[in-house]
Amino acid sequence: MKGYFTDFEGNRLYDLDEPVWKAPNDSPLNIYFPIKIDPLRIKNRKYNLWRYREAIPLNDDRNIISFDEGFTPLLKFMLNGRTVFIKQDHLFQTGSYKDRGAAVLISKVKELGIRKVVQDSSGNAGASVAAYCAKAGIECEIFVPAQTSRSKLKQIEMYGARLFKINGSREDAASAAFERAEKFYYASHCRNPFFFQGTKTFAYEICEQLNWKSPDAVILPAGNGTLILGWYLGFKDLILSGITEKLPKIIAVQAERCAPLKAAFDLKSYKIPVIKKNDTIAEGIAIAEPVRGEQMMKIIYESDGKVLTVSEEEIVTEWKNMSRRGFYIEPTSAATIAGMSKYLESASEDELIVTTFTGSGLKSSLK
Ligand SMILES: *Cc1c(COP(=O)(O)O)cnc(C)c1O
Repeated sequence: MKGYFTDFEGNRLYDLDEPVWKAPNDSPLNIYFPIKIDPLRIKNRKYNLWRYREAIPLNDDRNIISFDEGFTPLLKFMLNGRTVFIKQDHLFQTGSYKDRGAAVLISKVKELGIRKVVQDSSGNAGASVAAYCAKAGIECEIFVPAQTSRSKLKQIEMYGARLFKINGSREDAASAAFERAEKFYYASHCRNPFFFQGTKTFAYEICEQLNWKSPDAVILPAGNGTLILGWYLGFKDLILSGITEKLPKIIAVQAERCAPLKAAFDLKSYKIPVIKKNDTIAEGIAIAEPVRGEQMMKIIYESDGKVLTVSEEEIVTEWKNMSRRGFYIEPTSAATIAGMSKYLESASEDELIVTTFTGSGLKSSLK
């Protein structure tokens, strides 16, 4: 099947081989590329995310840039007396699940013959894009807020990317990159839809690791929504494939101090209201103006899910709890676990619940 780029209404705009990343009106693009997953066909393939090769819109295998990433362990885990499953996505090459998206996006960049990209990030997406560009021999420029964790900045520089530290907010870094993207291809994790063609493998893997069973609820962080939107795309394919019938409830977790989706949820709205943004220890989800905010809200409502917020104290408590059990994750990941802890208070007994460790603690230790 040959996919194509669409606008938010699903109208066809461009072929996937055009080097574009936005619609004529500047809004982000989507990719239409539904695919049927055949469990028998992939059964004996290598355990990485490329085992779902047919689902990844790349023409030629020779363009694949890969560290053999994916198929991270899905651990059974006791939390507050309940059994849940946690996908260990902090174990990727660069220390976060963003490698799923970068693997597919940078492979496509190579296929398009692009020699240089720009990207903006609060750290992890920049590190992923920089690492895959290093492997592909593609030049890259990464725009970050100057107050990003030092270890993430160091990591990005070590990969050989050109780092631009922007004095200002996460949104200021995004505007600077957006401007630069008039000249160079924008390998943005939130705008460029190829990134989501990688994060959707998160859903396939979890379903396969549960023996092709679907969870009842999934607890996911909500910043720019690369996991939430990827999860949705992946699950739509699983439903189309006849593997499962229903979309699990999506429980989106935000930091209380920066919670635009929660504000929309409380208003029962799709539109994201303007919020006051405060600093939070969960730097990876401190996104006040998510470019795909409405898209995320639509999915959360469709799944019969909700938006939860967690306080700074709750994040730190869960960060410590996880560390004491031997899991050194970053505070942003601890926010998701704090959200799960909260969700469990009202979950029914028999619910199959899944969440993830999104990033390694090793990258956020130095402020
Ligand atoms: C990017 C990131 C998130 C949040 O993902 P969004 O795509 O912004 O919703 C959560 N945790 C970590 C560690 C991240 O790097």
